Amino acid sequence: MATTATERRLLIGGEWVETGEWVEVESPYDGSLVGRVAKAGAAETRQALDAAEAAMREPIPAHERATILDKVATQLGERTDEIARTISAEAGKPMKAARVEAARAVSTYTMAAVEARRLAGDAIPMDASPAGVGKLALTLRVPIGIVGAISPFNFPLNLVAHKIAPALAAGCAVVLKPASQTPLSALLLAELETEAGLPAGWLNVVCGPAGEIGDVLVSDERVKLITFTGSAPVGWKLRERAAHKRVNLELGNATPVIVAADADLEDAAARLAANAFSFAGQSCISVQRIYVERESYDAFLELFLPRVEALRVGDPADEETDVGPLIAEAERDRVLSWIEDATSRGARVLSGGTLDGELLRPTVVAGASPDALVSCEEVFGPLCTVTPYDTLEEAIALANGTRFGLQAGVFTSDLKSALRAAGELEFGGVTVNEAPTFRADQMPYGGVKDSGNTREGPAYAIREMTEERLVVLQL
Ligand code: NAP
Repeated sequence: MATTATERRLLIGGEWVETGEWVEVESPYDGSLVGRVAKAGAAETRQALDAAEAAMREPIPAHERATILDKVATQLGERTDEIARTISAEAGKPMKAARVEAARAVSTYTMAAVEARRLAGDAIPMDASPAGVGKLALTLRVPIGIVGAISPFNFPLNLVAHKIAPALAAGCAVVLKPASQTPLSALLLAELETEAGLPAGWLNVVCGPAGEIGDVLVSDERVKLITFTGSAPVGWKLRERAAHKRVNLELGNATPVIVAADADLEDAAARLAANAFSFAGQSCISVQRIYVERESYDAFLELFLPRVEALRVGDPADEETDVGPLIAEAERDRVLSWIEDATSRGARVLSGGTLDGELLRPTVVAGASPDALVSCEEVFGPLCTVTPYDTLEEAIALANGTRFGLQAGVFTSDLKSALRAAGELEFGGVTVNEAPTFRADQMPYGGVKDSGNTREGPAYAIREMTEERLVVLQL
């Protein structure tokens, strides 16, 4: 239960701004007031862009950008407890998972600082063609311009970090719009950046109606790149509307994992039980569809189901809780209706499927038909399916049978099978003998198909946030 209500203002041009209107943040667990933030609209978003434009007229040298990023990393490390509590209160994320997120943000800032220090272009081998003889050429990495950043509710700290830390490393000013349900972690991060010495205007945070703020970010020509993490329909629509900008999309998934008979079943069961239900499945790479080779199917379930049933459902503020609430009651009801959709097409619920108080229990569904919503759409809830398969070819086809392609996993002790799966799974990333929910923050992370069009991780995001400028010197 949230105990204190936090009040935060917007950050525009280095000032903490009130607007006379507020957006209330309520606990997804019990509806209590967690805090409120000043509400922005189109006018404040334009002011934020003015501030960002002014800031970029005076570039900050790379060593100073890196120092600020390092200082934020240090502060994140020192204030982990407070930060984890903020994440937990506003997102309803169990403290265990909130602590992991806070620790990961340290890593994101640390890696961004490293990348700021080594941001450089290339030397071009000019005499490799007759035309280039007598010339020297190099590329500079030039900041692309103002970055418009839009972030989702489910990692309210670290996915904001994945946008604003690389932007600063690249030398770009940012106008950030965090998710309305979870603006407090983003504003706390903004406070850490200002305390670390970030000059005015380099980071501006506006909270409020998504359409209104989004319209300004899409239509204002000063925004050169929109970096969006969230749901596929919103993301692809933004890209369609911003034809003259770079629009980087990190979207959803319906995460599959293949468990071959030669895998270490106990290890697979433990990793998958933890990663199908952490934060009630509200991670873009939460394990959703488990395909098990038929000869090991029963043995896998014997190991897997007790682990699922042992997960503690309850108050996210409780340090022992594994599975808390969904972000909204309507989302919980949607997942319940998807369970009904699956069972009406012949599936069986092996575990969960019912409420524990107001919370949905971790749910395991067997025999879901390939066209059931739980088999091909993103559940984004505490539910996974288990399905037997006979050949690796069939398993790969089942895993690929979705419009999404973010991360997938395979458990096997056979190197050939692992490499074949890695080659044929149509996803941005494939994990072997690890749950596909795994992410270290320096990895290139992103999807194909409907899951997106870019890679995050500081080194990769910075690539997107800079342009290569060619300089040719006649000797
Ligand atoms: P969402 O509803 O799409 O919202 C994401 C952000 O977009 C929020 O800040 C939201 O603002 C904003 N938004 C909504 N409509 C907009 C519009 N018309 N113009 C501009 N901005 C708009 O997604 P969500 O429910 O927060 O997040 C869950 C989704 O994110 C899932 O699909 C998940 O898989 C995906 N995700 C992907 C990754 C990845 O790295 N690939 C990581 C995490 C999550 P409001 O909050 O004010 O509506």
